[in-house]
Amino acid sequence: MKLDTKHLRYLSNEDWRVLTAVEIGSKNHEVVPTPLIIQLSNLRGGSGVHKSISTLAKANLIARTQNAKYDGYRLTYGGLDYLALHTHLKRNALYSTGPCIGAGKESDIYLCAPPTAPNPPSKTSHQHQPDEQQCVLKIHRLGRISFRSIKNNRDYLGKRQSASWMYMSRLAAQKEFAFMKALGENGFNVPKAIAWSRHTVVMSLIEGIPLRAVKEVGDPAGLYSELIEVILRFAEHGLIHGDFNEFNIMLQTRGEDGAKADAKGEAEQSSLSVIPYIIDFPQAVSVDHADAKSYFDRDVHCIKTFFDRRFHFTSSEPGPYFEEAKARAGGRKKGSCKRIDIDVEASGFSRQMAKELHKYMETVGVNVDTGVTTDEESSESEEGNDKDGVPSENVDPRELLHI
Ligand code: ADP
Ligand code: MG
Repeated sequence: MKLDTKHLRYLSNEDWRVLTAVEIGSKNHEVVPTPLIIQLSNLRGGSGVHKSISTLAKANLIARTQNAKYDGYRLTYGGLDYLALHTHLKRNALYSTGPCIGAGKESDIYLCAPPTAPNPPSKTSHQHQPDEQQCVLKIHRLGRISFRSIKNNRDYLGKRQSASWMYMSRLAAQKEFAFMKALGENGFNVPKAIAWSRHTVVMSLIEGIPLRAVKEVGDPAGLYSELIEVILRFAEHGLIHGDFNEFNIMLQTRGEDGAKADAKGEAEQSSLSVIPYIIDFPQAVSVDHADAKSYFDRDVHCIKTFFDRRFHFTSSEPGPYFEEAKARAGGRKKGSCKRIDIDVEASGFSRQMAKELHKYMETVGVNVDTGVTTDEESSESEEGNDKDGVPSENVDPRELLHI
């Protein structure tokens, strides 16, 4: 779904109040009845509300819907996008949105300018300014692909059906923000978590190349050990990524002095080192999760298989094994290492929320990039299609680099 922001700055305060009223009403109503919208928007005189309703409907932020008993409106994805962007703008988390730089099954990623940047990002993406000046908006869209299977899953979703995409996308964003923040604070190479609102997260831009687009690396054994070490450090902090593969690892090249490679001349390219950054956390699980072992094994397997297929590298060392990795994690009560899973729980993303989101993702089979790229798929992605066969709007030519 495209993010169309052309009405964003033209909506009046009344329009925002009415849009917020529809959002609040959707928590309990599949279709929010017009009298309830009027009541919740708390505006004097109904006529102003009707005018706002018509403005919002024309902009496709709400949609008129009839159900068996009454007429009313429901919030669209566009409406929820606007509410989230409005909050980010008000809180100075970002200044403007730019081009789409990634579209997954369950999310859209936009390049953004933070409030301090002198200019919004250029329409021709990838002519990057330094990354301190740019950030990324990730919009979670759980249920976009699996909408039909969700509909068919009435028993599971019950009354929550209509609100579920909104609620689950919000849980995914909240979880991603909480984990990314905690990981960053514990020294992991992840994007900096800047803000979250509803189903969206603002984070720093990683100026790197997704591993799936890398044809060659100078030292596959070194990179392999580094990635396995990341998996083990995650476990030490109580976490399993759960989708640790070439789609969610980005490589940044740096010179010996630590400066980003883009700033370096050709002659210095040989002294480059590769720093892996990990992204995409909505499916992360605690090492105490009942299925932790299988998620851990899958993460390890994905890396092994990818290195074997892409770089013809097979490690002579067996493992790592879940039991050993878990033993490195501190206990729930005390441990030498910070337990991020416990910290995140304490920060507001409760165990109950984690369970709900996990069950949803498992039931409808969403949000796991997992499965190692086949050679066919990898040549597709190199031709500008992402993993779902959806053509990316913009393909970074650097994605075809040999590092
Ligand atoms: P999904 O859950 O849909 O897989 P991801 O978080 O993996 O979403 O993002 C999809 C793609 O967007 C990534 O493969 C990557 O190319 C790009 N991307 C995501 N986050 C960032 C970021 N912080 N910096 C640069 N690119 C990013
Ligand atoms: Mg991903």
